[in-house]
Amino acid sequence: MSGTKKQLRKLVAIRAGGRCEYCRVLEYLSNFEFHTEHITGLQHGGSSLSENLALSCSWCNWKKGPNIATILITGGELIPLFNPRTQNWFDHFEVEANGWLLGKTSIGKATIKLLELNHAERIQERVEMMRGGFYP
Ligand SMILES: [Zn+2]
Repeated sequence: MSGTKKQLRKLVAIRAGGRCEYCRVLEYLSNFEFHTEHITGLQHGGSSLSENLALSCSWCNWKKGPNIATILITGGELIPLFNPRTQNWFDHFEVEANGWLLGKTSIGKATIKLLELNHAERIQERVEMMRGGFYP
């Protein structure tokens, strides 16, 4: 990683409060490595400037890939994924006491579905952080 890249990564991590901007897991408590993720992928003309970058755990980064939208039901309309730069996480997501993540909006629901945020492993990780008072 070049000096500039390292600095940009640091800026992105600090801005995110050290949390994955999709699942809100803390980097220092996570089982997954974190990345600077392109919100709008390079394939779609997204830039590598900080406005288009988000701190993302490897799970969310891997599940999201270059996607910017998904559908909730077969034949349903295309729903954009959550954008951590322009939207507030708490407007779109809510966590239940048992660690289950609820989508408060279609954007939240679409993001949970595509990123498989209610996978058993992710729920377990969330519950552990909640027990320690580190989540959401
Ligand atoms: Zn994540």
